[in-house]
Amino acid sequence: MARKAPPGTEVALIGLGANLGDGAKTLGTALAALQTLPACHLIEASSLYRSAPVDAAGPDYWNAVVAMHCGLTPEALLARLQRLEHEHGRERLQGVHNAPRTLDLDLLLFGSRRAHDERLVLPHPRMHLRAFVLVPLAEIWPHLVLPDGESVAHAARRLQQAGQQIQRVGPLAFISTRS
Ligand code: ADP
Ligand code: MG
Repeated sequence: MARKAPPGTEVALIGLGANLGDGAKTLGTALAALQTLPACHLIEASSLYRSAPVDAAGPDYWNAVVAMHCGLTPEALLARLQRLEHEHGRERLQGVHNAPRTLDLDLLLFGSRRAHDERLVLPHPRMHLRAFVLVPLAEIWPHLVLPDGESVAHAARRLQQAGQQIQRVGPLAFISTRS
């Protein structure tokens, strides 16, 4: 990982996305909520981005990536993320993939942890395929090496050159200065 986490914590990378409702505002309030999670401390947040949907129809997405030091287990963190999605009006349609959503919070990496059960897969199995994950991540940690050995910056460029569209919009709001 790019940063050393304090004892008892791991570096957790979280991908944020929204394409229903006021997605830019939702990502700002989600960022504020992430900063209130127990045993977690925000270390980096990307800018706010706008991307075209990948493998789906619907409105463009708002996207960002944040990094935290996290003392929860990855399962407990995912449960917290899913609760936040629910609190922001997320509805899950059974069996429908890539449906438009008010808020999507994906656990991308949790230290070097690997998981393979149906509720949690780590590293996130599609993160290396998605410019809307890797371009914001390249802004904060360009030299991070993905599980397949490619750097984040290189993979982000490659996916954009292959046609995935994503643009930086501006700063992500509501970054607190809590130390
Ligand atoms: P996606 O974000 O890939 O479009 P969803 O947000 O609808 O998909 O998540 C579908 C399921 O993926 C969730 O029920 C969740 O338990 C599971 N899942 C497995 N691994 C992860 C992960 N690393 N981060 C977030 N969700 C995950
Ligand atoms: Mg998700």
